[in-house]
Parts: sequence; structure tokens; C-alpha cells
Amino acid sequence: MKSTKSRVFTYMLILTLIFSLSIPGLAAGAEPSKGEKKKSQKIEADIIYYNGDIVTVDKNMSSAEAVAVVGNEIVAVGKMGDIMPLSGKNTKKINLQGKTMLPGFYDAHSHFLSTGISLLTSVQLQSPPIGTIKNMDQLLAALSERAKTIKPGEWIIGRGYDDGGLEEGRHPTREDLDKVSTEIPIVITHFSGHNSVVNSKALEIGGITKDTPNPSGSEIGHFADGSPNGQLWELNAMKMVSDHIPPVTQQQRLEAIALVSDIYAAKGVTTANDGAGSDFELFKKALDNNYLKIRSTLWFGSVDAAKKAYDQFGGKEVRGKNQYYKDLVVLNGVKYFQDGSPQLRTAHLTDPYFTTGEYPEDWVAYPTYTQEELNEKIIETHQAGFNQIYVHTNGDAAIDALINAYEEVRKPEYRQPAKPSDLRHTLIHTQFSREDQFDRMKDLGLIPSFLMHHAYYLGDRHMAEYFGPERSYRMSATKDAANRDLPFTLHCDTPVFPQDPLHIMWGAVNRLSFTGQEIFTENYKEGTKYRSVDQRITPEQALRGITINAAYQDAEENITGSIEVGKRADFVILAENPLKVDKMHIKDIKVLETIVGGKTVFKDDSKNKDKDKKQK
Ligand SMILES: [Zn+2]
Repeated sequence: MKSTKSRVFTYMLILTLIFSLSIPGLAAGAEPSKGEKKKSQKIEADIIYYNGDIVTVDKNMSSAEAVAVVGNEIVAVGKMGDIMPLSGKNTKKINLQGKTMLPGFYDAHSHFLSTGISLLTSVQLQSPPIGTIKNMDQLLAALSERAKTIKPGEWIIGRGYDDGGLEEGRHPTREDLDKVSTEIPIVITHFSGHNSVVNSKALEIGGITKDTPNPSGSEIGHFADGSPNGQLWELNAMKMVSDHIPPVTQQQRLEAIALVSDIYAAKGVTTANDGAGSDFELFKKALDNNYLKIRSTLWFGSVDAAKKAYDQFGGKEVRGKNQYYKDLVVLNGVKYFQDGSPQLRTAHLTDPYFTTGEYPEDWVAYPTYTQEELNEKIIETHQAGFNQIYVHTNGDAAIDALINAYEEVRKPEYRQPAKPSDLRHTLIHTQFSREDQFDRMKDLGLIPSFLMHHAYYLGDRHMAEYFGPERSYRMSATKDAANRDLPFTLHCDTPVFPQDPLHIMWGAVNRLSFTGQEIFTENYKEGTKYRSVDQRITPEQALRGITINAAYQDAEENITGSIEVGKRADFVILAENPLKVDKMHIKDIKVLETIVGGKTVFKDDSKNKDKDKKQK
């Protein structure tokens, strides 16, 4: 074993030498002048990390003793004896002191900018275990508190309320919100992001009356007397009011990016996702002015918006590949929605919900687009040259429709990429999927991305109310994906749930809800439609889901996602190794440092703080 590894290392080192000497600009100031000293020149590393438990997440999940970095790139990975000779008088040697180093965590899907805006501008209304709001009185009190400091023309915006987390177990109505104010417009959004409640003033501004028809794929809620009750279900209805909210200023948006950069970096994230309707100009500005500190992948809300951004880099031919602005802002593809949210019973299913609440007994919710409309969208995006398409699909009916559309676009009459695997067609959330759907994903080379936090935060409710045990056991069916060797990914969907890669890794390995209920079964039932097979996966498989597989999903597997020669120096340093600790401890491992392209963007200073406290 050992000799094979060291042979591999030597080979890698030779490759590295050739590679780094032949690419100008790789090492700042170390660029060889043409033709001279090429053979004799030795790499001098800018940084060497050593004496740590380095998990490379390469193909074999191998370990290394040291890593050398030049500029923002990894130039050697291997044993101490091989790496240390790369140090020169200017090399910074970082002793990891036995700590664990992993590739930086890669956010497969979240809403980076809106997380920051929400934290900066909205009243936080989450219920336990995320927040503190336990009942309607507390919710209204939090909004009233904001009313005291509101300036003329401003709205009260609330984020993250949870009907199921309130003692009353119901959604607020305009009558509740009118108790806070009938003069100031109020909009509060459910934590799923798929429903909002507004007061009478906001309904008036949105022009919504008892006669207003439902916009497509959406519903306006009503009281028994037919008047609107303030509840707006799904995006098109929500937009009728939210479009009138005074826009957040450019400066606030920049500050939101700075705030959320720090929050993600503290969790070990080196690449974040701005996963819907991205604004390229804003991210450019944020990077140029030091608000953005970590990498960010941008997903555009329409083909036109994506074209506009990509056009800055060239014509149609550049759309099949990621485009980079100064290394850190990545134009990454197009994102759509095909259904709603499981916890609002708006995820589109083939069989009715377990309990249907106020809906009829056969309630399966509804799709955003008909099959024909969805096919058209996917074909339009594909034919425009984009290889990466991401679609929000929670329920199995939405997943069927999306797989059909992805299958359609692979027909010979449509554009063919250089290799079929150039297409990175992703299903975002894949929350309640059937086993046969994973077979189709495998056949077509699709990528399921799981919103893994569901099992922890909502597992109990899905089992008791929305889906029943049989379907709930197989929510986020990671084992089905692993068994088929699909390059599946795990994500947090922040701000829906907190950004915390180690927590979703823990969730995929343990599948327990926050109350300790098991979201898995050992009972294997043959022939049932929702086969309840144990869906727990290994720590190694889960780690790939938040690193290299996520990079693959976004066509960045040659750039980042593992600690290998030629890739970016994106790392996270942890107090313990998540592959070696007790599985139940994974989510509690401390993030000590986060490094993007060789630069530290987060460092845990709690030890120093403790010292300061003691001195005072
Ligand atoms: Zn999302």
C-alpha cells in the first residue's frame, strides 16, 4: 500500500513541477522568464500545511501528511518528507497540530444574498429549535417592537414564521397582523419561503380584493365571507404584494453579502450558492469592494438574465461552461421552480398527503408548470447553450415532470454537448422521491440534491402529519442515490434552514429528528410503492455530498471540492475528524479556520477571547 501511495505521490509531484513551471502566472512573482532555468528551478511553496489529519476527499478518500500551496493553488499533496523540501525562506509553515484539514465545504444550494438581506432587514420569527417564537402573541410582539422604530414609508418585514411551531398550530391572518398596525404595511414570510401573510394595509397596496383571481400556480387565501385573509400561497401570489416593498438599497445589499460571507465562512463554507435570480453586477461590486470574502456560484432566474451575464464573457459558445469574475464569482447556470414546499402541503405529489388539513382529502397540490410548459423551459435553456440547469422539485409528481423534461432534451433533435456528462442537470431538494425515479436519474445521468435538514427539523411533522411513516422514512433518500452511484449532493437551503454543512452530514449519517425520533426503518417492504429502506449513508458518502460531489454538480470538480494538485487552496480546518469521531458527534465538531484560495477568511478566536476574559 505504502509504496503504491508514494509512487503516486512522486508521479503527482513530477506532474506538478511540469504543470507549475509551464503555466505563467501560477505563482505570484515566481513566473520563470522564457526559456531559462526551467529544468533546474524548484518550486518554493508560499504555504505548507503539515502535521495534521488531512482528508483529501480524492477518489480513494486518501489521507496526506502535508499540503503545499503556491498563490491560490495546491501544488503538492503527500508525505512530510516529500513536501517539506518545497519550503524556502519565504514559505509560511503552518503546523496543524494534529487538527483535521478537509477541502472547504461547497454549498450545493442556498440563497446567499437573501439570507443576508433577511438578517439585516427582517424581524426574525422562527420557532424552536431554530428561533424563539412559541405563540402568536410572541410573534405579534416581535413585530410591534419593530413598529416602534419604523420610519415613514418603511414596511415591517418578518421572516421565518412557522405555523407548526406556534402553540396555536395555524398560520396568522391579516386580522392578527392588523393588531400590530393598520397604517404600516406588514409582510411576514413562512420559513419555507413559499407563503406569506400580509396585513390589510399591504393587501390594499397590492390591490388585492375579494374579486382578485388567483395568479398562475398560486392561491390567494380567503375568509369564509370571501374577503382575502392576508395569506398568499406560492410565489406569484406573494409577488403581488412583495413587488411593492420599497427596494433594499444597493449599500444594504452589499452589507448583506459581507454579513452572510462571515456567517458561511464560520461554518467552513468556501463556496456559497446564490441559488435563484442572481444579480451578477451586485456580486462584482461586492467582490471589488471587499464585501464578498468567499466564492459564490450564481444561478439566474431566466434564460435572458443568464444570457445578459454570460454575454460579458463572449457569445453563445461560453454558455456551456462556468464563467469566472476574478476567480470568486462563478456564473453557474439557470434555476427554476416546479412545485412548492412539503411543510405547506404545496409540494406536488402523485398520492395524497397523509393528512390534508384544510385541503380536500385527495389533495396532492399543484405543479408550477404543466409538463408542456416545463419541457419548453428546459428545451429553451438547453438550446440557448446552458449545460447546467437546476430545478426545485420537492414532491414525486414534480420530480416525474422534471425527469421527463430532462429526458426530452436528450433526444437527438436537440443540441448535443461534447460529452453527455457535460450536462449537469440537477433536481433541487428531491425530498419525497420514489425508488424508480432514482433508476431513471441513473439512466439519464442526473444529479439529485437533497435538502438534508428536513429529517432533523421537520422529520417528526412529516411522519405524523404530512407524509406518514412509510413515505417519511424515505425522505431525502440518500441511500437509494448512493446505491446507484449517483453523484448526489446535500444542501441546507438557507435561509430556510441554518447554513451548517457538518450538521447535514450528521443528518445523512444518523437520520434523527431534533427530538431524537428515528427517520429510518429496518423493515424492508418488498413491492410497496414507497419502499421504506434504511436510507442512512456512511460519513464518507455524506462528506462527498458537501464537497466533491457538490463541485461536480456545478461543473467545478476540476477546480475545487477536494485536496488535489492543481485545484484551488480551499480548505476547512476542524478540531476533529468527522470520519473518525462517534457518528453522533459529527454536528458538534468545531470549525477552527476557513481558507479560500490560500487566504484565511475565518479563524476561531474563542481561545483568545477566553484569555481576554480571564485577564479582565
Ligand atoms: Zn432554495
